[in-house]
Amino acid sequence: MRNVGRLWRPTLRIQRRDFSSSARRLDNYAFIGLGQMGFQMARNLQAKLPPSDTIRVFDINKAAAEKLMHTMKTQQAGGAVAEVADSAGDAARDADTVITCLPEPKHVKSAYETILSAYATTPKSESPAKPKTRLFIDCSTIDPSSSREVANAVSTVFPNGRGSFVDAPMSGGVVGATAGTLTFMLGAPQALLGCIEPVLLRMGKRVLHCGPQGAGLSAKLANNYLLAIENIATAEAMNLGVKWGLDPKVLASVINVSTGKCWPSEVNNPVPGVVETAPAGRDYAGGFGIGLMRKDLRLAMLAAKEAGADLPLAEKASEVYETAESEERCKGRDFSVVYRWLGGKE
Ligand code: NAD
Repeated sequence: MRNVGRLWRPTLRIQRRDFSSSARRLDNYAFIGLGQMGFQMARNLQAKLPPSDTIRVFDINKAAAEKLMHTMKTQQAGGAVAEVADSAGDAARDADTVITCLPEPKHVKSAYETILSAYATTPKSESPAKPKTRLFIDCSTIDPSSSREVANAVSTVFPNGRGSFVDAPMSGGVVGATAGTLTFMLGAPQALLGCIEPVLLRMGKRVLHCGPQGAGLSAKLANNYLLAIENIATAEAMNLGVKWGLDPKVLASVINVSTGKCWPSEVNNPVPGVVETAPAGRDYAGGFGIGLMRKDLRLAMLAAKEAGADLPLAEKASEVYETAESEERCKGRDFSVVYRWLGGKE
């Protein structure tokens, strides 16, 4: 039953409906998890879907869903019909495509438990001869084994390819989510690429297929492990150079044409004033939060342990992020704030 009070039908949809034939299959989407990333992704998806489609959104924080409906209504024209669901199960029940964007493995597991039990207890309206196939795209950054656990649960409830769970963690941050320019690292069977890509490209500009289910997360965590180390090493090297009396801009310009060049030295330099657009220049506000870096590092360490891969630098790096984050002057800021934690000159 649709909650009309919270349902927003763009005028465009009603007009198109009058002219279109009813032969076209309507696509139903669910979007679950409307935080910093999910809010913007759901907004872009809704805006770019045809008015004949429906998107049902859910977040345990009701205010996030209400705010999204308001934004869609006041700032966007056209797009799919949008509705607020009462639970993750309610959002996903009739969906062909379910997208989740949640903080941690425990949230993803709990949301899919709710979703799958809602399917299991719903009387089947579809024809048993031609059952609906469902696609579940999880964009959360979690560990590959938790993701595989959820994928197995999905294929138990939807056997014989009637339901597929794929991982599509992303990079690009809130800026990329807002602009619709995210890069997705996809772990999915080759055969599903044709269905998944068009959905992701409504929220991003690039889809990198990394291999079967779980491979997107492995690639994301390997990249973020490298980033975690490079960020600390850049902060240390910049602090060292400044303490030796070097001008930080001169040092950065040397590094950036030499072998030490990396994203933290070139784009996200931790010394205020070296790169104008970097978070360091605005008291480390915005950017990639130190808490998220710590989380990704922890997930990479867990996955490395399961794979029997040694990460000798990981423990120390984790300790650095943890202690830095525990200090008020660093908490909630961009992860390049490690430079401040080291006592770097600002
Ligand atoms: P967030 O904490 O801002 O939002 C998460 C949302 O999920 C919240 O609104 C919360 O209420 C909701 N939620 C939690 N449990 C739920 C449940 N069971 N059912 C429904 N909703 C639930 O997180 P975010 O920054 O949007 O990040 C989401 C994911 O994307 C994380 O895994 C994160 O690591 C990853 N990511 C974030 C960034 C970034 O810059 N923020 C960049 C890349 C990847």
